Amino acid sequence: MAPIRLRISKKGAATVEFVIILPLFILLAMVLWQAVVLGKAVLDTQAALRDAVKVTATTGDAEKGKEQGETSFGDWSNYQMKDFTVEIKGEEVIAKAETEVPMLFMKSSYTYTSEAQAPVVQSLNFYAGSDMPPIGTGELAPPVSNPIITSDYGMRWHPVRGEYRLHSGIDFGGPFGTPIYAAGDGIVRYAGWRTGYGYTIEIDHGGGLMTRYAHMESHYMKVSTGEQVTRGQHIAGIGSTGWSTGPHLHFEVLVNNIPQDPKQYIY
Ligand SMILES: [Zn+2]
Repeated sequence: MAPIRLRISKKGAATVEFVIILPLFILLAMVLWQAVVLGKAVLDTQAALRDAVKVTATTGDAEKGKEQGETSFGDWSNYQMKDFTVEIKGEEVIAKAETEVPMLFMKSSYTYTSEAQAPVVQSLNFYAGSDMPPIGTGELAPPVSNPIITSDYGMRWHPVRGEYRLHSGIDFGGPFGTPIYAAGDGIVRYAGWRTGYGYTIEIDHGGGLMTRYAHMESHYMKVSTGEQVTRGQHIAGIGSTGWSTGPHLHFEVLVNNIPQDPKQYIY
């Protein structure tokens, strides 16, 4: 191969650099892409296991848990959950998942296997099986009639940002369209899109108390800004818009715009 004589002819040098750098760049991009796909497959599998176990542990219904796990995993074309089992053995919920991730340049694929367990707990969902709006006895009512917590309020590890951050509300798992009810009487201060939150409703209950309902699909929203609502009124349905990996309601309680632990209000 002729020696690379950079800068002698501007045009020639640029061509040599291009010929060397372009394949390297393409290779690097492919390796990065593979790493991203693999990482996402692992995160989705973990989310599926976590939610399946939580729902099964709180409802005692493995079928329901599996369903939630599958919706939390999502519908991805480049990798699939090959095997997913959720079962109750004695007092323990055991979920196992196998996710198959195709690898670039290889005929075989990588299979990620993981398992999660949790004890079956006393049912939190005191409204289970009811399609009636939950009235509740707290200052505010639970916003769903089957309140299954898939992620609690509090500090949590953010895998993407690599730091602990406040999860400013409670996540309730549930299929798309599950009715969401106003937690109290009030006025809709905002109904529309918010970055990160997706389609969002914010209700002002007076005295600085506000509730926020996030990640809905626009066609499930039943109220608009300025509307008066009453406790238990069907205002929207569970969706997965904004920064959301699967259908759930992100529910916040705020006092003077500062997030509070919703459990102190709804239970
Ligand atoms: Zn959330």
